[in-house]
Amino acid sequence: MAKLLRFGHSAHGTWLNLRRPLSQFMRPALLNPLFAPLRALPGVGPKTGKLFDRLLAQGPEEARVRDALFHLPHSTIDRRSRPKIAEAERDIIVTLEVVVTEHRPPPGRNARGPYRVLVEDETGDMLLVFFKANHDWIERMLPLGAKRWVSGRLELWEGHLQMVHPDRVLDEEGLKKLPPVEPVYGLTEGLYQRNVQKAVDAGMERTPALPDWLDPAYARARKWPGFLEALRAIHHPQKPEDIDPRAPARQRLAFDELLANQLALVMVRARMKKLGGRATISQGLLAQKIADALPFTLTGAQSGAIHDIVQDLASEERMLRLVQGDVGSGKTLVALMAMAHVVEAGRQAAMMAPTEILARQHYERLGPLCDAAGIRLGLLTGRDKVGERNRTLAALIAGEIDIVVGTHALFQESVAFRDLALAVVDEQHRFGVHQRLALGDKGEAVDILVMTATPIPRTLVLTYFGDMDVSVLREKPAGRAPIDTRAIPIERLEDVVRGLSRALASGARIYWVCPLVEENEDLDLAAAGERFELLQQFFGDRVGLVHGQMKGREKDAAMEAFQRGETQILVATTVIEVGVDVPEASIMVIEHAERFGLAQLHQLRGRVGRGSAKSSCLLLYKSPLGEVARARLEIMRETEDGFRIAEEDLRLRGEGEVLGSKQSGAPGFKLAQLEFHAELLAAARDDAQLIFGRDPELQSERGQALRTLLYLFGRDEAAKLLQAG
Ligand code: ADP
Ligand code: MG
Repeated sequence: MAKLLRFGHSAHGTWLNLRRPLSQFMRPALLNPLFAPLRALPGVGPKTGKLFDRLLAQGPEEARVRDALFHLPHSTIDRRSRPKIAEAERDIIVTLEVVVTEHRPPPGRNARGPYRVLVEDETGDMLLVFFKANHDWIERMLPLGAKRWVSGRLELWEGHLQMVHPDRVLDEEGLKKLPPVEPVYGLTEGLYQRNVQKAVDAGMERTPALPDWLDPAYARARKWPGFLEALRAIHHPQKPEDIDPRAPARQRLAFDELLANQLALVMVRARMKKLGGRATISQGLLAQKIADALPFTLTGAQSGAIHDIVQDLASEERMLRLVQGDVGSGKTLVALMAMAHVVEAGRQAAMMAPTEILARQHYERLGPLCDAAGIRLGLLTGRDKVGERNRTLAALIAGEIDIVVGTHALFQESVAFRDLALAVVDEQHRFGVHQRLALGDKGEAVDILVMTATPIPRTLVLTYFGDMDVSVLREKPAGRAPIDTRAIPIERLEDVVRGLSRALASGARIYWVCPLVEENEDLDLAAAGERFELLQQFFGDRVGLVHGQMKGREKDAAMEAFQRGETQILVATTVIEVGVDVPEASIMVIEHAERFGLAQLHQLRGRVGRGSAKSSCLLLYKSPLGEVARARLEIMRETEDGFRIAEEDLRLRGEGEVLGSKQSGAPGFKLAQLEFHAELLAAARDDAQLIFGRDPELQSERGQALRTLLYLFGRDEAAKLLQAG
């Protein structure tokens, strides 16, 4: 979401047309200490500063004090257990009060053996063991006869109790400072827990009191602490439960973040509405011509969605609608029908696909239907030759193209329309939020239709789009047979290949997907290449290969050969997976299925089962399967319902992975975790609407505090809308 709100300054121009002198809309000075660079804190040198940037910075900026405070511990170390030696449990962290009774250095100063120190209490004794130790340090820290507190794990070794490298060796003074429960933070190589703790503490110290932006009655009813108090409680837990996502302090912070997100969305949307739309009215004659040209009838769900859209188009308000439909539910046709209405009204429509292959596929699929209705269709991609491209651009601005299909190339500044009325964004999760909305800039009050094949759970829709209108295609076109899904260990590869050879003999078309290996593209390609060669040994020319590093034309050629049936097995990396439609394909093999997320598996499986032929999906996995991976494969076998799969995915892995990679335009919450805080999201939405209804300019005392909240969470664009009035 941050991206959407920052979009006003992007290179694509201003979506909200908000260019105004920035000085007028500065972040409140109160927040300055929180936005100071982290490296300005005492104890954070240039070297640690760089590490913090790597760990915490949002994009190219350097890490701020705020980022450290929002870096919450993921677990704790409990040092409260203070048993006697004889009663101490093994293998958990204990803190023991002992007296040093004997030093046993390795024989000779340079000897390799460990340095042992015998300590005791009235119940028994044990050894502290130090490998490669600095002898001076040991002698200084553990003088004979001194009383010390040592904290670490006890183990039994050759019949003797020992603690290897105690985490802490403390005297009385040190003990007083030992936190009962220590927070544990996510790190990056070279950074240590104490670096984070120090930075957090220094940051907390400099943070001024902030006005509370929550409704006091609400916070009281929930028994939530104040914002700073909540941060402190989590960075200095008194017991492990204090950092639980359900703990009051965590809830409070999650709510703050969600409220900032929802309030920003409400404000941006209201602004969009205020800028207004333009009614696009048609009778549906062109749409009817297209319907007549189809070899099938629309599903009820498709008709319903088209009806929703046509109403939106005809209204004076700007449309911002999401069409959610499982893979194969027929979203493309819904988009085409919507675009046909716009064309009939004498205006233009653009449809943006995430990849070149998809844009071309749409272009080819829509071609005959557009011909049937007399609609002029164009294609614009990054790969067009200069002359071709110039002709397309000229035709767009002259209004000689009614519908243009394309890729990111459609965003470019040189692209202008005579009268763009509707922008359709397909398979949206490949685009950032800002990109989806960039097309809206290319015309006067452009209506926006976003189509997602990933059925986003209701909770996530709210965070991505606020109260965006949603049409759901839950029903699939008739006549689709269920897909036979099996999980097979990779050891049975030979059986699988044998099975495939039978299927090939009867003319089957097969996808074979090789996954991302350790996020290393070269390794991925190697894996795919190796598989390609192996399959070639069996099936010769009938095997094709397509991957992300191939040139565009090579990719096209490989796809087309598969489409035409010249190759029957297409080995592919996931780079190309989304949305490709080869109805004849009936077998999907996914190698290393255990490495994929549920949403991705579902997407991939959706590539088959599009015709009436019986289809199957083979999930090849490498044992042993982890718990989550096993659950995923199980769910894949159980159901084809994308909505259920999405919900399970959310449950299993948390919101970060539902929509795939970082480029997904994910809101990237730092404090909220939707698998725990979904209920808070709904509450934040309600609160945001209430606030906006009562005090749209955020003028009241609480309103002023809410402005601080917006800036605190980087929703600057929303805050700027305010003063703009
Ligand atoms: P997706 O929702 O995944 O984008 P597509 O729009 O690519 O789905 O449609 C998948 C396939 O279903 C296409 O081959 C399309 O022609 C076909 N299709 C779409 N609507 C219907 C329908 N009502 N009846 C039968 N087939 C349909
Ligand atoms: Mg599609």
